[in-house]
Amino acid sequence: LVSRASHREDTVVQIGDTAIGGGEPVLVAGPCSVESREQVREVAAALKRAGVPVIRGGAFKPRTSPYDFQGLGFEGLKLLKEAADEFGLLTISEIVTPAHLEEAAQYVDIIQIGARNMQNFELLKAAGDMRKPVLLKRGLAATMDEFLHAAEYIVSRGNSQVMLIERGIRTYEKWTRNTLDISAVPLLKRESHLPVLVDVSHSTGRKDIMAPCAKAALAAGADGIMVETHPNPAAALSDADQQLDLGEFAEFVRDVQSSGLYR
Ligand code: PEP
Ligand code: MN
Repeated sequence: LVSRASHREDTVVQIGDTAIGGGEPVLVAGPCSVESREQVREVAAALKRAGVPVIRGGAFKPRTSPYDFQGLGFEGLKLLKEAADEFGLLTISEIVTPAHLEEAAQYVDIIQIGARNMQNFELLKAAGDMRKPVLLKRGLAATMDEFLHAAEYIVSRGNSQVMLIERGIRTYEKWTRNTLDISAVPLLKRESHLPVLVDVSHSTGRKDIMAPCAKAALAAGADGIMVETHPNPAAALSDADQQLDLGEFAEFVRDVQSSGLYR
């Protein structure tokens, strides 16, 4: 069902006034984690100023260590929604367990399924039973075939509003956090009709190359870009090294706009 052969037209995920896929690319930005009312509100205000329609912010965080900040849970989703509503933004946040999907749907416009859960088949099935847009992240070592089959799990349950996002894969290279597989963009666009986004934060982990990587992704046909931004990255409770501060974020948006690939 996700293949281009079964459906020639690009899928467009329409949420309110925002359309993702088949047209103008969109930016999705926000902190790695929702940390406080003030933090997420400051970011929402910056997104509004930059014309970015969707705010991200993790509340259920899949952290490598159990001793690291695990997220604020539903309280975080509420703070995200409150800030988004104040500034007229859409929300996206990762959900990690089927049991949380229904309640989370009150606060998020797009359900994110994270890289670590790309092949959590019960979660995929449960997301497929919802009628809510889903952003599916590519697994840390997932092939294109595995990625598209994971999307098929969702769509085959009747939820056709699925978007794919390349977020870098594991390779031997250590100068970046992961290796951004730019070829995934044209491959997924060719093989599938689903919108394709690129996460320049988790793929590169490097602020100094995020803008050129975003431009490359857009030039390759990406329908959107995800980037992390935080009012005070040094004090962030997760991904402190890779989040753009709000000034850097505004500069990132201007830089990407200057390419003419994003308005
Ligand atoms: C995230 O986007 O918050 C995240 C944890 O990313 P990933 O699942 O790609 O590691
Ligand atoms: Mn992060």
